[in-house]
Amino acid sequence: MKNIPELFGSMVFNETVMHARLPKDIYKALKKTMSKGTHLELDVANVVANAMKDWAVEKGATHFTHWFQPLTGITAEKHESFISPSGNGNIIMEFSGKELIRGEPDASSFPSGGLRCTFEARGYTVWDITSFAFIKNGTLYIPTAFCAYNGESLDMKTPLLRSMEALNTQALRILRLFGNTTAQRVNATVGAEQEYFLVDKAAYLQRPDLMYAGRTLFGAPPVKGQELDDHYFGSIKPRVSMFMQELEEELWKLGVYAKTKHDEVAPGQHEMAPIYTTTNIATDHNQLTMELMKSIADKHGLACLLHEKPFSGVNGSGKHNNWSISTDKGTNLLEPGETPHENAQFLLFLVAVIKAVDCYQDLLRVSVVSAGNDLRLGANEAPPAIVSMFLGDELTAILDAIEAGVDYQGADRQPMEIGVTALPHFPKDATDRNRTSPFAFTGNKFEFRMPGAMSSIAEPNIALNTAVAEVLAQFADTLENEPDFNAGLIRLIKTTIQAHKRIIFNGNNYSEEWAAEAQQRGLSNLKNTLDALPALTAQGALFVRHGVFDETEIHSRHHIRMECYCKTITIEAMTMRDMIKGGIIPGCVDYQNELAKLLKRKKECGAFESVLEERLLAAISKNCTHLINKLDTLEALMEDAGKCDDTEAHALFCREHIRTAMEELRAVADALETSVAKKHWPFPSYSDLLYSVL
Ligand code: ADP
Ligand code: MG
Repeated sequence: MKNIPELFGSMVFNETVMHARLPKDIYKALKKTMSKGTHLELDVANVVANAMKDWAVEKGATHFTHWFQPLTGITAEKHESFISPSGNGNIIMEFSGKELIRGEPDASSFPSGGLRCTFEARGYTVWDITSFAFIKNGTLYIPTAFCAYNGESLDMKTPLLRSMEALNTQALRILRLFGNTTAQRVNATVGAEQEYFLVDKAAYLQRPDLMYAGRTLFGAPPVKGQELDDHYFGSIKPRVSMFMQELEEELWKLGVYAKTKHDEVAPGQHEMAPIYTTTNIATDHNQLTMELMKSIADKHGLACLLHEKPFSGVNGSGKHNNWSISTDKGTNLLEPGETPHENAQFLLFLVAVIKAVDCYQDLLRVSVVSAGNDLRLGANEAPPAIVSMFLGDELTAILDAIEAGVDYQGADRQPMEIGVTALPHFPKDATDRNRTSPFAFTGNKFEFRMPGAMSSIAEPNIALNTAVAEVLAQFADTLENEPDFNAGLIRLIKTTIQAHKRIIFNGNNYSEEWAAEAQQRGLSNLKNTLDALPALTAQGALFVRHGVFDETEIHSRHHIRMECYCKTITIEAMTMRDMIKGGIIPGCVDYQNELAKLLKRKKECGAFESVLEERLLAAISKNCTHLINKLDTLEALMEDAGKCDDTEAHALFCREHIRTAMEELRAVADALETSVAKKHWPFPSYSDLLYSVL
């Protein structure tokens, strides 16, 4: 039996280690920097670096790396060994404060959206003291932010930290108005549930589409899919269980609070959820989780698929972003309290989120766009592309009563008045859940369900934190000037509900009626990446106002999104073309050859019936002709795509023409798959993949 408490965080340079290994004054100085963001002096950094190195070397580390999150959506690292020449051909292990605090990677190969030219490509990485260093595979990892030389951010972490700062500033203003003088900091907290698929590695290696595009570009529907609902929370298969166990242990060593694991709705689909923590740590931990899922799967002869929609017609994978705001004293500000006073405060934060989601629904939508997520959002299992909020019947009834200025008659028949009476208790059980809502209140937090499985959670949280910070700033501006705080508060809550209740929808988000109603309510329905992207620049002023992005950073991110969209679709189209030419056509030719030979022999003998072979041959050769024609179309379009003047035109061309041509081509190939003998079909089928792990 492993000692889990001992294992947990054993590879993390956390506060316990710092406390044990650093001189008192150094520890104090570091703590101050961690909690207050004050400057870290170089002499302090030198001592910390040395202690870190000693600790890491004792644990078997030989290298260190600045670990950062460039705009590729994944992480980057360059390893340096601790060795330093000490004369006479010997070395010592060294690590300086300077090396700890700041690195200078050659940044020219990371996406910058035109922020830098290659000749001025220097970027630098800066230690994010709020996220602990850790050891993985013999290297000391130092979480860092990544910026261009002039300070412009080139990563996900910098704006995320800035958005947390904005939220902290504005939420504290509100807390002070409620007479709270003790809270020193307000943090956004996040628990990101991660969905993923596991397939057998051998099957995976036979599918170039999974290898290059992360998703299947072909595949006839399997005989059995998820229709029997026999996968969700099903008993976990032994191989998967062993994988999950190792994943948990490795995550625990790195201080990740891996908590929940279960099978998901689709065959071969699973989920891992950690216990929530502050947003930037949750973001780092989610990146680590994705990396470990991939590497540990490999050790078990499995491949982990993190794409948002690896299989057509089968549920895709998302990343439910559970979000709340909490003080450094541990008070969850979205938790309805016990006293009238607490509840007035809860209602104010609640309506702030409602207003933020309504006003910035397009920015939330754009924070989760990708070519992959376009295939998931709006399909039948994921939330639709329309952003709306679920509050549950009881909370909605309370808000309705407040809006109408009438007493709320709760279950206990107590009239309710803001700031005077306590709120009734909300049922938090599963009956009050709406799994179709993109943004659901679940008792004391919101669950944003739109993020795709593959992308960083930084972006949705940047949008969410900043939007809520903006509304809290507006509220604070109003309330700070109110002569009668209570009267002003009630008025503010009331008018906010009136103005923004259109965003609340407790019904079935998958229904067609909802799309029509949402349109009537004036809500956006930004169906795909390119429809959503303009919102980033149109509403970007929000970010500028709160110091999260400047104008250039917004434009660069817009550009990178667009470019990434084009590249993804281009890679998919090329993979599709190669799979047809190199696999499907030769397979079909072989099968036709076999049939034709048989037919010829039968004819020569003259004695046999040959209707079957003739029909098969005719059907396959007809579909093959379709296939070739559709492939010609795709190839011609790919050539035209290369002639587009700019990225935007290229992106539109990809969406309008390339994706459509790919879908048509796929339909023909999938029809062929069901009529060509299995031994001649070059790729493992959907059934082979989805049921490959026993
Ligand atoms: P569910 O029924 O959705 O599985 P859970 O209580 O298991 O609900 O929570 C799901 C996720 O939400 C977990 O990652 C959990 O840690 C996270 N969570 C719970 N409370 C908060 C909070 N206050 N802030 C952020 N995330 C939270
Ligand atoms: Mg959940």
